[in-house]
Amino acid sequence: TSFPGDDSGNVTPRQTPGVLYSKAMPTPVEKVSLLAWSEELAKELGIQKPEGQQELDILGGNYVTDTMYPYAACYAGHQFGSWAGQLGDGRAITLGEWETIAGQTYELQLKGAGPTAYSRRADGRAVLRSSVREYLMSEAMHYLGVPTTRALSLVTTGEPVLRDMFYNGNAAYEPGAIVMRVAPSFLRFGNFELLNARKETENLQQLVTWTIDRYYPHITGENKVIDWFKEVVERTAGLMVEWQRVGFVHGVMNTDNMSVLGLTIDYGPYSFVDDFDPDFTPNTTDLPGRRYAFGKQPSIGYWNLGCLAAALLPLAEKEQLLAALETYKEIYWKKYYQMMGRKLGLDKVTNQDTDLITQFEKTLAAIKPDMTIFFQLLIELPLYMASAQEVTGHFKDSLYDDLTPEQSEQLYSLISNYLERLNTNTITRAASQELMRKTNPRFVLRNYLLHQAIEELEQGKNDLFLKLQQALKTPYSNEHDAFFQTRPEWASQKAGCSMLSCSS
Ligand code: AMP
Ligand code: MG
Ligand code: MG
Repeated sequence: TSFPGDDSGNVTPRQTPGVLYSKAMPTPVEKVSLLAWSEELAKELGIQKPEGQQELDILGGNYVTDTMYPYAACYAGHQFGSWAGQLGDGRAITLGEWETIAGQTYELQLKGAGPTAYSRRADGRAVLRSSVREYLMSEAMHYLGVPTTRALSLVTTGEPVLRDMFYNGNAAYEPGAIVMRVAPSFLRFGNFELLNARKETENLQQLVTWTIDRYYPHITGENKVIDWFKEVVERTAGLMVEWQRVGFVHGVMNTDNMSVLGLTIDYGPYSFVDDFDPDFTPNTTDLPGRRYAFGKQPSIGYWNLGCLAAALLPLAEKEQLLAALETYKEIYWKKYYQMMGRKLGLDKVTNQDTDLITQFEKTLAAIKPDMTIFFQLLIELPLYMASAQEVTGHFKDSLYDDLTPEQSEQLYSLISNYLERLNTNTITRAASQELMRKTNPRFVLRNYLLHQAIEELEQGKNDLFLKLQQALKTPYSNEHDAFFQTRPEWASQKAGCSMLSCSS
C-alpha cells in the first residue's frame, strides 16, 4: 500500500494537511563515531556490525543508501491533557523498513538526525545525555521483559548542540549524538488522532486497515475496527501493569508517545521510582500537577485510550467504542492482581488476596522503602517473625528514613498477614521464591547511575557505561550486586536532583 505522503523533501517547518508523512533527508554531521552497538539485537535482525567509515556513516545519517526512503511521520497528540494539534517526527527520521530472514519487518529510525517538516522551532538534534538515556533504557526494558522499542546503535556526531541547561536555565552546548531506534512500527495514538482532527476519514480508514492487516493480521471478520481497538486496550493495560511491576515512570505519557502496538516508546525524562512513592514524577514540567506520576500511569493509559477511541469515531459505532474502552478497567485489575500475586510469590490470587495486595500498596506508600530492594528482601523473608522490631530490621537496607513506631507496626501487620498467606500456598517455598525472583528485578537502571555514566562519557570515559550496558542484560540475577544499593542522598529529589532526568 502506498500512503499519501509529501515527497518534496522540503523540511521547512509547516502544517502538512492531507499527508501521513513527509520525506526528510538526514542532515550530515561532522564525524560519526560509534559509542555503542547492540550485539544481540543486531543478530536478531541479521545486521552486521558496521565496518569502516561509510557503513558507520549510515548510523549518523551521513550515508543514505539508494534502497532507503527516509521520511518523518506526521502525527498529532494530546499533551498534558490538552489538544496540541500537529506534532510529527521533529527529530526522528525513519530510513526504511528492514525484513529479517524470519520475515518480520522493523522500522529503522534515526533520532537526532536533523530537521524535518515537523521540527517546528527546534533543531532536530539530540544531545549525548538524552541519547545515552534512550539507548540504555530501551534495551534495559527489553531485558526486563517489558514491551518496548529497541536501540541498535548510539553514535556521537562530533557536533555541539545548543540546549537550555536544566539546572540553571542558561543555554549551553552539549555533545550531539544519534540513536538508531528499532520497532515493528512507531505508530502512535496521535497518528490516528491527527487524521480524525483533520476530518481525513479516507486516510484514517486506510491507515487503520493497514495497521490491522500488518500488525494485527489475526483480526478478521465483520467488526475489525472494534476488535482492533479492544486489543490496543488490552495491550495498553498490559503495558501499564508491566511499568508498575518494575517501578518505571515514563514521565511524558502524551498521546503522541503512546504506541498502538503497546510498546514503551519515547524515552525522555523517565525514571524508576527508587523509593516507593505513587506521587513521584521525574518530569519537572509535570510539576505541580503530577499528571504523569507513578501511581497515575494506569488511569492515564485509560484516558489516552479515550482519545484514540474518539479518533476512531468516524469508523465505528460510538457505543461499541465506549464499551471496548470500558473493558480497560477490568482487564487492568485482572492483570495487575495476577502480576502482584507473582511479585509476592502466591500460588494464585483469591478475592481475599486483593486485600493483602492493597495493604502492600498502602504500607509501601506510607514507609516508602526502595521498591527494588524491598521486594528482593521479601524473597528472603524468614517464615517466622516475632516482632515489629525484627521485621523492620529485616527490611532495614531498603529504608530511606527510620520508621516511626506506628510505621514499624504497620509493616509488622502487613508482614504478619503475608506470612499467614504464604502458609496456605500450595506451591513449595522454593517454587514461590523462584516465581518472585523471575518477577522482581534485582538490577534496575537507576537515574543517578545513568547520570554518573553520562558525566563520565562527557569526559571521555566509558567504564560505568559499559558496566551498565552489561548489567541491564540480566536484571533478575545477582551478578551485579555492586549496584544493589539504595539511591544515594545527593541524588534524591529533596536534594534538588530530579532534573538529572531531563530530556532533549
Ligand atoms: P516529546 O515530548 O519528546 O514526545 O516531543 C514532542 C514533540 O516535539 C515531537 O513532535 C518531537 O518530534 C518534537 N521535538 C522534541 N525535541 C525536538 C528537537 N530537538 N527538534 C525537533 N523536534 C523536537
Ligand atoms: Mg515524543
Ligand atoms: Mg521525546
